[in-house]
Amino acid sequence: MQDITDAFEITRAQKRKPQVIVYNIDKKIQAEELLEGLLQKNCFLYDGNNVPLVKIEFPIQARNKESRHWVITIDPSIFKDLWLKQGLYFNWSRVRFTEFIGIRQCRTCGAFGHTAKYCDDRDKPPICENCSMLKTENHSCRVPKCKNFILANEKFKRNWHTIHSVFDKRCESYLRQRDILVKRTNYGN
Ligand SMILES: [Zn+2]
Ligand SMILES: [Zn+2]
Ligand SMILES: [Zn+2]
Repeated sequence: MQDITDAFEITRAQKRKPQVIVYNIDKKIQAEELLEGLLQKNCFLYDGNNVPLVKIEFPIQARNKESRHWVITIDPSIFKDLWLKQGLYFNWSRVRFTEFIGIRQCRTCGAFGHTAKYCDDRDKPPICENCSMLKTENHSCRVPKCKNFILANEKFKRNWHTIHSVFDKRCESYLRQRDILVKRTNYGN
């Protein structure tokens, strides 16, 4: 028979861990070096057994070609500390960071939940970022239209506003994806 606390632990474990994005790290720095440097200067980033409570995920190219931003997963047990301490140091300087809520949106078909690499439509031309029609050679673009909202209107028999790009960060369906991810995140106690 399964104990109720076991079941509770399982659901908690399935929750997403929070992530942050650390800005403007020198482009020459690699993941291992970044982790080591962070652990050295911020002792709350590892536990009593010297096990890191952060995991370096992947870099994102910054606008400034000399640096990259890094996405880092944070153990829920120290997430609040990270904000309360109001500082994260790397080498001899303080780095800027914010929470990272990585929403997967496909550049090919515009749908949420997968990337272009795993898209069922990866053999087709990508959709137009303005009007959501397939970007074929003779594509003639007119008004902006959001494919995700056209689909939602069909599904829910509504007449929601669709006059925006499918990649618009203010799109209701984008914001909904964001909400879902936040609700699934364990920010610790
Ligand atoms: Zn896709
Ligand atoms: Zn178009
Ligand atoms: Zn939209």
